[in-house]
Amino acid sequence: MDESFVKAKAILTTLHNNGYEAYFVGGSVRDFLLHRPTDDIDIATSALPGQIIDLFPKTIDVGAVHGTVIVLHDGEQFEVTTFRTEEGYEDYRRPSHVEFVTSLHEDLKRRDFTMNAIAMTINGEIIDPFDGRKAIKKKVIQTVGNPTERFREDALRMMRAVRFLSQLSFLLCENTQSAIMENAYLLKKISVERITIEFEKLLSGPSCQAAFPILIETRLFQYIPGLEDEIKGLKNFPAYKWNQLQDRSEYWTLVSYLLSKEDLKSFLRQWKLPNKVVDQVVKNVACIQNVFQTGWNNRLLYDSGAKCVQQVERILNVLGFGQEISPSKEYEKLPIKQRSELDITGEDLLNWYNQKPGKWISNLYIKVEDGILENEVVNNKVKIKEWLLSCNQK
Ligand code: ATP
Ligand code: MG
Repeated sequence: MDESFVKAKAILTTLHNNGYEAYFVGGSVRDFLLHRPTDDIDIATSALPGQIIDLFPKTIDVGAVHGTVIVLHDGEQFEVTTFRTEEGYEDYRRPSHVEFVTSLHEDLKRRDFTMNAIAMTINGEIIDPFDGRKAIKKKVIQTVGNPTERFREDALRMMRAVRFLSQLSFLLCENTQSAIMENAYLLKKISVERITIEFEKLLSGPSCQAAFPILIETRLFQYIPGLEDEIKGLKNFPAYKWNQLQDRSEYWTLVSYLLSKEDLKSFLRQWKLPNKVVDQVVKNVACIQNVFQTGWNNRLLYDSGAKCVQQVERILNVLGFGQEISPSKEYEKLPIKQRSELDITGEDLLNWYNQKPGKWISNLYIKVEDGILENEVVNNKVKIKEWLLSCNQK
């Protein structure tokens, strides 16, 4: 049992000592049974949100109306959720209200897949009313109850199914897959933010190459932002080893490059990605295009900067254009990495040329950078002045 579980036991004990039931549930139990590290430990309890808040000194109320309270304990966060059912699904989305219940069984029944509907007691005993362990053993993703009903309650579960396939290297069980095909169009009802979270998890899963064909087969892709008309591009996705990539901007760069989106910014904004990611991807894609046009050179390395060079290097490797000489290593060898490192200032240039400020200054900066990058002159004020005068150019 990993350290987080051991820490979380104290929370279960507090709840028990106050007369409440409490169990480990959800993804953490699944991952524990799979001997896989888990990100977050979920706890389900019969205590109501107000009672949870009263029992623990440090809590964050993230959604008490939905029954979830974060308990801060021993430097970690634990999601503690009151047993609940979800009723009154509206418009194929998560319900706007939930009903608290007293039985663990009812709580497990509302969960999406059998592998995610297993509870574990503080002593490690497993409560598994929907045969989740069997599904884990067989490596199948199967809804709790009728798949069509479950996908019609919350259409996001279809995306979750395919991202779990990617993350866990499982298969969809037959009726789950055919229900996704029938109901794929309901994904239209789901907010793009929720789809983006699942799609990013899919992209970074070890079996994403197996997940892409399922997005096509089930026609889910037709209802994913920006992928609607991309069957041709998507069919190429499995040819690449996505799991050699590391950062979310790298995944989005490869997606964007493979789909050759004309209006890249709008495509990325459609997914509601943070500006930082959008900017990095736009920069990476432009850099890849430059490499294909001119090859790497010191100016391109310098303009791209360390992060872009590292990311593009990994992406080019995945695309099968890895090079013997590593661009990151070449980048490290650059005599300067940014303009602020130049041993001259704008004032120096003004003094040397005795002219009014103007565009000529930025042109000279570029000239000096190029001179240094091409080893024509060293980055030293006196040498730069000599070199500029010898070029006799303003
Ligand atoms: P991970 O955290 O590794 O991404 P997870 O299974 O823990 O995977 P979470 O989104 O953290 O997924 O959700 C925790 C648990 O809540 C799930 O295991 C599942 O039991 C339940 N759950 C989450 N989303 C849904 C949903 N849309 N419908 C039904 N149950 C859900
Ligand atoms: Mg989780």
